[in-house]
Amino acid sequence: MKYIGAHVSASGGVENAPLNAVAIGATAFALFTKNQRRWEAKPLTGKNIEAFKANCAEHGFGPEQVLPHDSYLINLGHADKGALQKSRTAFIDELQRCRQLGLIYLNFHPGSHLRRISETECLALIAESINIALDQTEGVTAVIENTAGQGSNLGFKFEQLAEIIDQVEDKSRVAVCLDTCHAFAAGYDLRSTELCEAVFAEFDAVVGFQYLKGMHLNGSKSEFNSHVDRHHSLDQGNLGLDVFHYLMSDSRFDGIPLILETIDTDLWPKEIEWLKSLAAA
Ligand SMILES: [Zn+2]
Ligand SMILES: [Zn+2]
Repeated sequence: MKYIGAHVSASGGVENAPLNAVAIGATAFALFTKNQRRWEAKPLTGKNIEAFKANCAEHGFGPEQVLPHDSYLINLGHADKGALQKSRTAFIDELQRCRQLGLIYLNFHPGSHLRRISETECLALIAESINIALDQTEGVTAVIENTAGQGSNLGFKFEQLAEIIDQVEDKSRVAVCLDTCHAFAAGYDLRSTELCEAVFAEFDAVVGFQYLKGMHLNGSKSEFNSHVDRHHSLDQGNLGLDVFHYLMSDSRFDGIPLILETIDTDLWPKEIEWLKSLAAA
């Protein structure tokens, strides 16, 4: 079973996210559980939490169909002690919010070294951040997203994801989300079935499919290997459609949230319908 959806708005309250997902025909969704561009967040109220759970239950969204995304401000590999602490505190709060909502995943970008420390040091800080956060929370898995490698963002190579996971103590609560646009921009060519087979074989060898708990399905405005993070609609841009045919027909991508972050939200119902038709074929 393929769970297909999009990163929907939670404006007006997290409880609106499942309703926005239903409205576009989704069987999965992503959301921010707080304003993603601010550090402070009002705690979720009992009302928010009950309504979110009720709406998910009513529309058949189980926790394995929902992939919350954390704030863009958080950098778990920050070289500065104070800034690192701020990020860690915010990350723990995000994990707790997911837990309150009955969710089991939190999707995040690993972090950036800001050219102040080495890649190895930064990856070790990220792993340490995950260890601290997992230790202080329960029930939620930290889902590391691969990046385009823009600026000094790490996590653009499978080896970097593996290096983080290697250093995480509780392997049962760490996972990976692969973003098609980010992978393509980072130099993983997905423009044909054969190329997809090679990339995912490499992923399996370096990281392991057992860690794959989500996918972001995006076209790419950026060029191949450009390390530029610019999403596009599925049928536009430089990535092509083969990768989506490939993903929808392979059972290794069953049972995990497959989330659109494509740029034209008006196209989401059509994109979801198209993906569903491929999965059913
Ligand atoms: Zn992301
Ligand atoms: Zn993404």
